[in-house]
Amino acid sequence: MRIWLKNPLAILAADAGGGVVVDDGRITELVRAGGMPQTPVDQVVDMSDHVVIPGLINTHHHFYQTLTRAFPPALNRELFPWLQALYPVWARMTPEDLALGMRVALAELMLSGCTTTTDHHYVFPKGCEHGIDIEVNEARALGMRGVFTRGSMNLSAKDGGLPPDSVVQDRDDILADSERLLSTYHDASHGAQIQIALAPCSPFSVTRDLMTASADLARRHTARLHTHLAETRDEEAWCLETFGMRPLDYLDETGWLGSDVWLAHGVHFSDPDIARLARAGTCVTHCPCSNMIIHSGHCRVCELEAAGVTVGLGVDGSAAQDSSNLMQEVRQAFLLQRHHYGVSAVTHLDALRWATEGSAACIGRGDDLGRIAVGMAADLACFTLDELRFSGHGDPIAALVNCGAHRADRVMIAGRWTVWDGQIPGFDIAALRRDHQRASARVQHA
Ligand SMILES: [Zn+2]
Repeated sequence: MRIWLKNPLAILAADAGGGVVVDDGRITELVRAGGMPQTPVDQVVDMSDHVVIPGLINTHHHFYQTLTRAFPPALNRELFPWLQALYPVWARMTPEDLALGMRVALAELMLSGCTTTTDHHYVFPKGCEHGIDIEVNEARALGMRGVFTRGSMNLSAKDGGLPPDSVVQDRDDILADSERLLSTYHDASHGAQIQIALAPCSPFSVTRDLMTASADLARRHTARLHTHLAETRDEEAWCLETFGMRPLDYLDETGWLGSDVWLAHGVHFSDPDIARLARAGTCVTHCPCSNMIIHSGHCRVCELEAAGVTVGLGVDGSAAQDSSNLMQEVRQAFLLQRHHYGVSAVTHLDALRWATEGSAACIGRGDDLGRIAVGMAADLACFTLDELRFSGHGDPIAALVNCGAHRADRVMIAGRWTVWDGQIPGFDIAALRRDHQRASARVQHA
């Protein structure tokens, strides 16, 4: 069915003032201001109250952490003690808890204008070995496009790592499950709805051997690789002490410095590190709220981009930053980077670009996601400006970022409306909140 999204209030695309035509999940035509579609359409949707931008793409998250938001023993801690406070709590999750936690994250993201998300799921306590299957099901139920990264931890405290035994798995079990997930769910085609990537968690929770084996396995399946890297000074000190090298050298040595890799955080990179990332084509996901809350440091986004490194955006785990709102994260990225680099170096359009084109490139989807153009997926986030916070605005697109948009009124994924009038059709948020809060209380206080 050909649908004309007619005459948006504003649209983040060139020569599309009259809107876009979508058909069969893709954008098939851009309509000039005052113009009409060139071929007949089956349906016209008035968008004159809506600011239309490409659907936002979240390139780093841990859905299950919605169950441990604002967990008192983890408050006001830096990364390592924060993790040590939470690992044993996460070990208590059941499959039902996981499903609820993931559903909350997905719904929260979608309502904020997110149309594609990743999730770095790396905790597989006993009974929850099918965590990735659970999130694929949850994403399908909501219509969210996803790249689910099979995380892993196999280096526990007894072997010199950070996590306790209760949350690590055996290397061979991890690789067997990774292979199963790649074979079952990974769709490498244009317009794919579900993809799998492999994501050993971090240098301090995974063995060197698992890093190299995961890279080999992912590459055999044309799947991408993801991990946390250069997030904190603690991590750097740990790598120097344990491996005798800094995190990027470790990444290189394990065969991970490649164009099929995107890294979460990338805060503590030196100038030579940045040049090496650029040469390799390795991408970086900026997670401003998480970095600020955990006090990890400042991601050098402008130096990374100037060198040619692609930068995307991620909300990071819901326990680290306690929110899964990607539109708010755009504003935070804008504010943090503007504060650091100045008014001429960072604009609201840069922040929107990180969350759309930049994020799409991070997950290897620059050809079909992240832009409003003919042939791209029909993934759109549409915001109204009828709240008090927008009253008095001039530029409607700048208003989204500067006035703090945080809730999309309409969201389209693959040509289908997944949010309408600020609601997910048929989705009982009150019941979800009740069940999720109950699960969270049990996990936090068991
Ligand atoms: Zn993370």
